[in-house]
Amino acid sequence: MGGHEKNYVQKAIEDNWVSTLGPNLAGFEHDICQHTNARHAVAVNSGTAALHLALRLLDVRPGDEILCSTFTYVRSANPILYMGATPVFVESEEETWNMCPGALQEAIVARQAYGRLPKAIVLTHLYGMPAKVKEIIAVADEFGIPVVEDAAEALGSRYSGHQVGTMGRIGAYSFNGNKIITTSGGGALVTEDQRLAEQALFLATQAKDDAPFYQHSQMGYNYRLSNVSAGIGRGQMEVLEKRVKQRREIFNFYRSQLQHIEDLVFLPEPKACFSNRWLTTVLLPAGHHPEHVRLALEEENIETRPLWKPMHLQPLFAKFPYYGNNLSASLFERGLCLPSSSSLTEEEAEKVVKHLRRILEVA
Ligand SMILES: *Cc1c(COP(=O)(O)O)cnc(C)c1O
Repeated sequence: MGGHEKNYVQKAIEDNWVSTLGPNLAGFEHDICQHTNARHAVAVNSGTAALHLALRLLDVRPGDEILCSTFTYVRSANPILYMGATPVFVESEEETWNMCPGALQEAIVARQAYGRLPKAIVLTHLYGMPAKVKEIIAVADEFGIPVVEDAAEALGSRYSGHQVGTMGRIGAYSFNGNKIITTSGGGALVTEDQRLAEQALFLATQAKDDAPFYQHSQMGYNYRLSNVSAGIGRGQMEVLEKRVKQRREIFNFYRSQLQHIEDLVFLPEPKACFSNRWLTTVLLPAGHHPEHVRLALEEENIETRPLWKPMHLQPLFAKFPYYGNNLSASLFERGLCLPSSSSLTEEEAEKVVKHLRRILEVA
């Protein structure tokens, strides 16, 4: 927490705005727009909900195909299944680990040949690193397919000066407990399009018709964020920039202390990209299996995690189409997420470095 969250929460309780209505919601949405330069923001109770709403807004129907980054967290892809749509997974490129524009083009052309032009693209900015948005949108525009940016892990990251999440038709942020800032659980949908923003709010609040009684013509959801959680969000927005700075410092510390280890790879920032470095990830040198390193660090009470297992390798998605060269599988087999919490102390980071050196320097 940054410190001011409890003031906003206390005010919500004192004023009895303990509901999915109240002034913190508008305040939080305003803060999100201020920070990201998005025109409209709708606060919801998870990033997954924001992505689900995005697909509804794009009129995705059962049986439609949706292109999706394969190297992502399952929460990007689940909303495609909620819609009864078919995910078509697209491989990453090496520079950002995010969706490869060439593989995207290949996928669209192949699906088109089956007479099925995909309805939308869900583009993840993984671990805070911006995808090659310009190239992706160029391919998408060529075929008239809207892009939904899954910026759940990337609030505060920029691409060519633009905040990620604001370049596609719709963007989604997450304020889950593990993200760079949190509302304990929460998310937001952002868009330039006022009509889409209004429709998102309508669907997120049960889609009640404009009638004096409870009448419904469309299927809605109970997806609105609570005013109490939004209060946490307002306090957190005050420290977002500080959090980005902290995460980047953690990344720089690990890199400066460990980059001499041969074949240990830290993902550099390509020219147009500014990453919030949500998590510091590394690719381990040949001969060091991530699971062995993870267990060796666990013995020292240091928690590391594997990289996300790509969606096309998940049992849940095994039957769905996939396009690419399996890069994400090799990243998954070599990679590890290092402790990256904003609250990580210098001593703790030094301890991680000490033990990683010990483990990796003995060949
Ligand atoms: C966290 C996350 C989401 C959304 O998660 P919620 O917990 O529902 O807020 C979506 N995509 C990715 C890549 C994520 O990491």
